[in-house]
Amino acid sequence: MNASTNQARRIAVSVSGLRKTYRDKVVLDGVDLSIGEGEVFALLGPNGAGKTTIVRILSTLIPADAGTATVMGYDLRGQAGAVRGVIGVTGQFSAVDNLLTGEENLLLMGRLLHLPATERRARASELLERFDLVEAARQTPATYSGGMTRRLDIAMTLMGRPRLIFLDEPTTGLDPRSRQIMWQLIRGLVAEGVTILLTTQYLEEADQLADRIAMLDRGRIVAEGTPEELKRRMPGAHIRLRFADVASLDEAARELDHGTRDDENLVLRIPTRVASDRCETCLPASATTLQWRTCPSIRRTSTTCSSP
Ligand code: ADP
Repeated sequence: MNASTNQARRIAVSVSGLRKTYRDKVVLDGVDLSIGEGEVFALLGPNGAGKTTIVRILSTLIPADAGTATVMGYDLRGQAGAVRGVIGVTGQFSAVDNLLTGEENLLLMGRLLHLPATERRARASELLERFDLVEAARQTPATYSGGMTRRLDIAMTLMGRPRLIFLDEPTTGLDPRSRQIMWQLIRGLVAEGVTILLTTQYLEEADQLADRIAMLDRGRIVAEGTPEELKRRMPGAHIRLRFADVASLDEAARELDHGTRDDENLVLRIPTRVASDRCETCLPASATTLQWRTCPSIRRTSTTCSSP
């Protein structure tokens, strides 16, 4: 990680003036991006912001109306085949075939990528092991949990050893534990030097994984920077809730549905407005200590949050 600190880094993705319109609806309104090799770059934005459209354009699935882009040094328009050869894409809707077993899905992907049979089998078993799918390998994905299906989906993407991976909302809909597992897997990819463009609706996820974040709103980049830079710029006060254990942190994160987690210190950082709206009813009893920055209602919050 932290490729952004490497002065000599090469550019993995460079986008300038990207525009896309459907009928009279402007979906991308002049997007500029630059992602360094080995970097995890998060596109953060609400539903409908245009995140998937950017991924679909950069992975050559749909054309842009205007703008230029290079992906791993290849021009998106003129060298689309070469672009496809170096990227992997995991979309919001899984590419997994439910009629095949997990292992067969991986082997099929290997075939489509023209991998020799021995390499195909070796790579499939390596990925089943790494993604904790060995026991489920001979079962069809219909029997898998959501987290297992996502893991298989990413494993399929990795059959081709892509240097750049687009992860489109990889944890949307997953429970907190599956999300944690997915984050670990993504960190593992980063450690191998893979460049990742991640889209997410969760600030917490971008904060946990990304070297840099671009916030997308109605087709425009409205802010860009490291997670720390962006958090400093976020308007409004925040409070920090510290919990006795991970289960309580999970519970509060799920109930509040907002905020930035710091798992190491068992802290959830949430906007004051969310805290004052919702703390009274939903925090678990083990929110033992409450730290705050500029929360004007600290007295009220500390009495109501500690033991509902
Ligand atoms: P996000 O991934 O941030 O949720 P999308 O890129 O999927 O956003 O969509 C951005 C906007 O573009 C949405 O309003 C969506 O309805 C619209 N859109 C996406 N694809 C199409 C399409 N094929 N036809 C018309 N509108 C589309």
